[in-house]
Amino acid sequence: MPSDHPVTVAGAGLSGLAAAILLARAGKEVHVHDIRADSGARFDGDFQALENWSMDEDFFDQLEAWGFDSSEFKSTAFSVVDLIHPDDAVTQARTNGVAYRIVERGTSPHTIDQAFKRMAIEAGVTLHYKSRINLEHADIVACGPKETSALALGEIFHTSHPNHIAFQLNDKVAPGAYSYMIIIDGVGLICTCLWRKQRGSERFLNECIATYRRLYPDVDMQPVKRVGGKGDFTLNGCYTSRSGQHFVGESGGLQDFMWGFGMRMAVWSGVLAAQDMLGGPTYDREVRKHLLPYVRTSVANRWLMNRVGDRTFKRMCLRWMRDQERSGDGLRWIGRLFRPSPTKRLIFGLTSPFMLKRADGPMRPRRLPFRPALPRDAWEPSPEALNVKASWEAARRRGSHTSFESIEGEAVEHDAAPA
Ligand SMILES: Cc1cc2nc3c(=O)[nH]c(=O)nc-3n(C[C@H](O)[C@H](O)[C@H](O)COP(=O)(O)OP(=O)(O)OC[C@H]3O[C@@H](n4cnc5c(N)ncnc54)[C@H](O)[C@@H]3O)c2cc1C
Repeated sequence: MPSDHPVTVAGAGLSGLAAAILLARAGKEVHVHDIRADSGARFDGDFQALENWSMDEDFFDQLEAWGFDSSEFKSTAFSVVDLIHPDDAVTQARTNGVAYRIVERGTSPHTIDQAFKRMAIEAGVTLHYKSRINLEHADIVACGPKETSALALGEIFHTSHPNHIAFQLNDKVAPGAYSYMIIIDGVGLICTCLWRKQRGSERFLNECIATYRRLYPDVDMQPVKRVGGKGDFTLNGCYTSRSGQHFVGESGGLQDFMWGFGMRMAVWSGVLAAQDMLGGPTYDREVRKHLLPYVRTSVANRWLMNRVGDRTFKRMCLRWMRDQERSGDGLRWIGRLFRPSPTKRLIFGLTSPFMLKRADGPMRPRRLPFRPALPRDAWEPSPEALNVKASWEAARRRGSHTSFESIEGEAVEHDAAPA
């Protein structure tokens, strides 16, 4: 690419903006196009976790080293989390450092999305919202999810309860996955993740909220809105196309297949793409070196998760707590789960050809299909969940809304279709 050639980025999310900022700071003319009206508009006030256990380096140190100002967005650090076992026993995982930081996604000024947008504007990036370009004309493709491999559904509420975090492994209310409750400064989110496609998905959220109401009777909850979105899990054959386009973030399949953590790899991959375009090491090679081992580990973890249920989830919780007693650090066990190892490499090699399905695209992706429901996913809602449903319907009549099109399977946001 000639050095004065303007750079075109498709997608003004975390990965696209991270790349754009570094390129503009290096003197490039950068244009970022996004089909939505603003950065973060894919989300609506959802809390997301920047995990800090999967790698040795603290993510905020990495952000600073790349030149991103982490004080531009609100983040709340936690060193302790309630771990709710599938049988509702509650224990606590704790560490001396930062286990994770919670940030908000969306269009409010304190969200991480708007912080990256401000840094981009300051660097001289030209942002084009509500702009759909032919993706073949983009130098960097950063469009987030395309298809659906999993769903997350949540309810945001107001509460007077102090800041708190709880995380539950439970195959009934969160098929194949987990649910969580996050409370920060008077705003709460209860969310369930579905790694199996369901009819009547909302019943999982209602049952999940009923579970947290039962376990945390002192948490008052006034429902505000329901939020959610889809995750697209692909493993690419390559990360730079023959025509030289870099695929970053979720568009490049760079996120955690097991539990859906993707923000860290989104920013990191944006940085690597920009470095390549500025004459640094090749993007494809750097992704394979720094990010792919973690993605492959997460594919192996997802294969294992797809095979188990509450009995294994209970064993995992007990092991996690036993390891904490032994080592004095609640991050050690979970950190090991996420890190590459010879066993995970073997599982990945043996299972990924069967678990991932070939899909169309210049990156030769293999996609994690949204798995069908299992017979055990058919159950009648509890009376408490029916109460949750009734209180949500009352809130809806008062003006509360669901901020995505539908929570029935595939019908959530079809945004990254080729122009
Ligand atoms: C409900 C939910 C909860 C999550 N929780 C966590 C969490 O706790 N921790 C974590 O690390 N990760 C979490 N993730 C994953 C994380 O949000 C993503 O991995 C991350 O946002 C990916 O960044 P990105 O830059 O690839 O995409 P995004 O940040 O989504 O940005 C993509 C942008 O591209 C735009 N776009 C789409 N199509 C086009 C097009 N054709 N042309 C131009 N622009 C386009 C979109 O409007 C959007 O602005 C969660 C995801 C969901 C859905």
